Amino acid sequence: MRNKDEIINVTRSDMPPMEEFIREISSIWDSRWLTNMGEKHIRLESEIKDYLKVENVTLFSHGHAALELLLQAMDLKGEVITTPFSFASTTHAIVRNGLKPVFCDIKEDDYTIDETKIEALITPHTSAILPVHVYGQICNVEAIEEIAKKHNLKVIYDAAHTFGEEKDGVGVGNFGDASMFSFHATKVFHTIEGGAVTSKDRELKDKLYYLKNFGIQDMDSVPDVGANAKMNEFQAAMGLCNLRYLDEKISHRKQIYDKYVSSLESIDGIKLLKYRSGIKPNYAYFPIVVDPEVFGRTRDDIFDRLKKENIICRKYFYPLISDYECYRDRFPHGDTPVADRVSSRVLTLPIFAELSLDVVDEICELIIGLKH
Ligand SMILES: *Cc1c(COP(=O)(O)O)cnc(C)c1O
Repeated sequence: MRNKDEIINVTRSDMPPMEEFIREISSIWDSRWLTNMGEKHIRLESEIKDYLKVENVTLFSHGHAALELLLQAMDLKGEVITTPFSFASTTHAIVRNGLKPVFCDIKEDDYTIDETKIEALITPHTSAILPVHVYGQICNVEAIEEIAKKHNLKVIYDAAHTFGEEKDGVGVGNFGDASMFSFHATKVFHTIEGGAVTSKDRELKDKLYYLKNFGIQDMDSVPDVGANAKMNEFQAAMGLCNLRYLDEKISHRKQIYDKYVSSLESIDGIKLLKYRSGIKPNYAYFPIVVDPEVFGRTRDDIFDRLKKENIICRKYFYPLISDYECYRDRFPHGDTPVADRVSSRVLTLPIFAELSLDVVDEICELIIGLKH
């Protein structure tokens, strides 16, 4: 049994065998090439391109930096339609580019942007749609593409949760004009901190390559006001090691996912994440949505009960981005009743490759024990 002093967090970073990482970084002592697109950076970019089944990959120091510079590279103007049901980064990237976020509601069944509500939000100022493949649920990419084509809008996916996922055999990074991935320590695949943009557009890749290095295109030419967002060689080395174990880690996550589903799916008032058919999931998160009328207890009751046992869940995504102090008086909240409701009822339970199935059983029993 678990030592009850041990804290179980919602996630735990995967680590490769330490000797393997040391072997991977040791050549850096010879080369003295620590950053600025070195050998490991080049190798990781190529391996990720194969793993994601995409045409172009650009690595970054952080996923958020990737998203900010991607929006800059696309030279967007005016308004961007997005979801308030996401991590802070999504809307911050819009606002930090001087653009206005317009919040669209999500769908009750998979928590991604409700594509049927996008068109009503389009104005002459709209330049792009920025949906999120939230929890690894892939958005309705076909419908979104149709709307974008019809109104001549760009589509940028926040794919931070979907590393390695596919829809009907197509790598998730192929949808829209471009996608951003996060390789933060808490993500399914990580480089400590890090991220990437994928796109079919080779020119976009070239632009991102110099935007992440201060906009310096070559020694004599600085065409854009860039930033510093280069992935360093130590990050890339961590990525090279982690990538070797990723399929194994995802299969452990699947066992945990399956155990949660089999223990909780018959409990009235608890809605589980069910991936739509055709999706090859990475099992990044395990959100439950609690209906207090049916379950007899609230999301916060479950959070508190598990916390007493040192099991720390997260209320992802609560509050909604549109309710943040920095946004609520600045941009209209939008008509988002589903997002409002889900946000107040959602709880993400622990899931990570090393989580033991006994602890999953314990978590499920604690939840079921609360039911009224
Ligand atoms: C993690 C995350 C990001 C930001 O990525 P970082 O690598 O942490 O900068 C953006 N969007 C979503 C939905 C995320 O979960």
